Amino acid sequence: MYSLTQHKYTPIFHYQVCKIRPLLHPSRVYCSITTTTTTTTIISKPRTNDKSLVIEPRLIPEPLTVVTTGNHRPMINDQSLQSTWSHRAWVAAGCTTLLISLGESIKGAMDLNIWIEPILASWVGYILADLGSGVYHWAIDNYGDDSTPIVGAQIEAFQGHHKWPWTITRRQFANNLHALARAVTFTVLPIALVCHDPIVQGFVGVFSGCIMFSQQFHAWAHGTKSRLPPLVVALQEAGMLVSRLQHAAHHRPPYNNNYCIVSGVWNEFLDKHKVFEAMEMVLYFKTGVRPRSWSEPASEWIEEIETPSQIQAQ
Ligand SMILES: [Zn+2]
Ligand SMILES: [Zn+2]
Repeated sequence: MYSLTQHKYTPIFHYQVCKIRPLLHPSRVYCSITTTTTTTTIISKPRTNDKSLVIEPRLIPEPLTVVTTGNHRPMINDQSLQSTWSHRAWVAAGCTTLLISLGESIKGAMDLNIWIEPILASWVGYILADLGSGVYHWAIDNYGDDSTPIVGAQIEAFQGHHKWPWTITRRQFANNLHALARAVTFTVLPIALVCHDPIVQGFVGVFSGCIMFSQQFHAWAHGTKSRLPPLVVALQEAGMLVSRLQHAAHHRPPYNNNYCIVSGVWNEFLDKHKVFEAMEMVLYFKTGVRPRSWSEPASEWIEEIETPSQIQAQ
């Protein structure tokens, strides 16, 4: 049995959808709520000397309640959120790769007695890693699916993240980082072992390190200020790590902005100049493929509201 609650939304909430998964129908049915505010509030008629409670009209929209089968919803302490030994091994390999790269940079800088260039290269790596994280996040948010070669699992994970953003704060460290750690190991380790240029290694080490840890920065952006380490909060507020406020905008309609998740320094520029929208148009005219963000509101983008028991359990 499925039940739909009555929704009464102001126009700004028109994007919210209710989702039904009927047992007898194989496809999903979406119904957009586009009604204007029609307050159906019961107001008791005041009577002389009437001391009974008068119910004031409520203009606050009622929270969206979604009734689902829940067969894909991750549970608190879900096994899929735990780290495995394979996850930990890949993170260890990724960290070793980063240490080799940064070690080569420092050793080369000492041998050649040059410091400014490697430091500048590291800074450029940090700045460009934010841009790289944005481009990658935009790509997997908008294109492909779980059957896409190499990144299919990441696409599926990011789709799940949009539906259940809270899971990232429950995901264990190595579970969250292992996919990027594996990519860093495969691409950066050969460079780290072959190249001994301190400037190149400074750039590569910091760039790939920021990319690898971007999922941790992302998880912190979903954290509660009081529960985050004070240093993380300080770095977020200084703009060194992507802020909670900035990333929260990514999880709100129209779901097509604030893709960068390292420092977030590129977000304003990219969104103001509609860079990703321009890239989407180019791709559409070249290939005919529509990005997912054009199909909004779609179930993939809508966060499922947690049940009271889930919220309590956190
Ligand atoms: Zn996203
Ligand atoms: Zn997020």
